[in-house]
Amino acid sequence: MLTHNNLNHEVIIVGAGIAGIAASKVLSKKTIPHMILEASDRLGGRAKKAPDHFGSWFDLGCSYLHEGKINPFVEISESTNTPVRKDVGDMFSLEKTNLLFNGVCLSEGMRKSILKADQMLKSKFSEAQRKTTDKALSAYIEMDSPYYPIFSNLLIGLNGVEPNLVSLKDFTSVKEGQDYVIESGLANFIEKWGSDLNVKFNSPVSQVSWSGNQVCVETKDSSFKSKKLLLTVSNGILSSNQIKFLPELPEYKVAAIRNLPMGTLNKVGLRFRDGTFQKNHEGWYVVCSGDSEIKITSVISFEIRTQPKNHMIIFFGGKEGKELELYPENFFKKIRLMLSQTFGHDLLESITKFVTSSWALDDYTLGSYSYALPGKNKDRDLLRQSIEDKLFFAGEATNKEHYATCHGAYFSGVRAAKEIISKLKP
Ligand SMILES: Cc1cc2nc3c(=O)[nH]c(=O)nc-3n(C[C@H](O)[C@H](O)[C@H](O)COP(=O)(O)OP(=O)(O)OC[C@H]3O[C@@H](n4cnc5c(N)ncnc54)[C@H](O)[C@@H]3O)c2cc1C
Repeated sequence: MLTHNNLNHEVIIVGAGIAGIAASKVLSKKTIPHMILEASDRLGGRAKKAPDHFGSWFDLGCSYLHEGKINPFVEISESTNTPVRKDVGDMFSLEKTNLLFNGVCLSEGMRKSILKADQMLKSKFSEAQRKTTDKALSAYIEMDSPYYPIFSNLLIGLNGVEPNLVSLKDFTSVKEGQDYVIESGLANFIEKWGSDLNVKFNSPVSQVSWSGNQVCVETKDSSFKSKKLLLTVSNGILSSNQIKFLPELPEYKVAAIRNLPMGTLNKVGLRFRDGTFQKNHEGWYVVCSGDSEIKITSVISFEIRTQPKNHMIIFFGGKEGKELELYPENFFKKIRLMLSQTFGHDLLESITKFVTSSWALDDYTLGSYSYALPGKNKDRDLLRQSIEDKLFFAGEATNKEHYATCHGAYFSGVRAAKEIISKLKP
């Protein structure tokens, strides 16, 4: 039986991820009565820490503060005495990448050719950005280039999906910048940041009725009413129909949700005995293997960190990311082979623990982050639009220039809360 909660909420927020927390903070500042309904038993959503046995400082979801110079979490975390590491810079740029082939550094000639090919690809992308038509990223990459596997690996990691499915205009609307890091864990910090909010956990919203003056929200055992509803759940959740809308959402909104699907990026975390790596080992690695330098057949990318403990973060995106969730043992074999070829067989003896993420199968996310199908980059504007001043939308997918990021989710939550405030009658 449903319990009816007639508490006077002006606003209900669905989801206590970064967008939901950011929105709640803005509403709290204006003392607007509201609550957050969260499906899981924790704060943070895609900011999620590893279990204690591995180390809760390890982030299974987001971890880098991209665009550090404009990222609001830099100031917020520093103001709460959480140190931010800023010396890593634009760690993912190819100039700073440790590029290896079959265990040895790439020859200087090959390295230069790759950097040149990277520059050419970037100028093709920015030229295409200025054109009116939008195509898939793959239309601009030379598939028969010997470096294709490297560029493809990097693009799949960024988008969570293969380049033939990604809108070039959407992809190029995101800016590059400095990547900062909270070594004690971004998810730990988000949990602390949101700890003062009014959240009802274990409350997956299953139905939203929005035909009358108020919005009625149902969870498995309760129903709530409010004047405004802010949805911050991922597009994976919105497209799965886990939340039934009465009446149904307008066709343009359903199409926008469909045109901005979820990519998959997963991580394997490996812990090593203390002292295995030194400071000079830290950084971003792209390790290729194959018959010859110009015939690369496989690429694995990862970061080595020594703080707070010696560890490696290995990334698998797109189809591989999904396979990792189903057949992790195949990936451990592949990783062990790559590690022994790159660092020597003895390194395998230093591995003490491992952990993997599983975002495509996560019931409350159903994917890692959104991408736009070719020709559909404008759908982020449609996803963001409120409906009849009752239903409001936030979350990373609604942010055109910073989608798939924490700061994008933050900006979207702040923007939606301000919009709601402007529509609430005094
Ligand atoms: C592996 C991985 C690595 C990443 N790396 C980075 C990075 O380094 N830097 C970066 O900036 N970004 C990164 N991101 C992206 C970043 O994590 C997301 O963009 C951001 O966390 C999204 O926040 P959000 O509030 O929009 O959504 P979410 O975090 O998904 O929050 C939505 C909330 O809604 C809840 N919910 C779902 N269904 C319901 C329901 N029916 N009822 C009530 N609640 C519900 C969920 O449990 C969740 O808490 C990464 C993501 C992944 C998965």
